[in-house]
Amino acid sequence: MPAWVVDYVIMHELVHLLVPSHGPRFWALVERYPKAERARGFLEGFSMAASGTPEEC
Ligand SMILES: [Zn+2]
Repeated sequence: MPAWVVDYVIMHELVHLLVPSHGPRFWALVERYPKAERARGFLEGFSMAASGTPEEC
């Protein structure tokens, strides 16, 4: 995986330490990472290719 996608996953998990659920406050913090939108698209495509289903963390 590209470093910016790995960084997104780590950042996503760190935000979960502050906000456990995927609510508006969670996404507001995640969107502060500049490539958040691109990374989500990358991971969606990756999990579709790997397992045939989109995955939610
Ligand atoms: Zn999550």
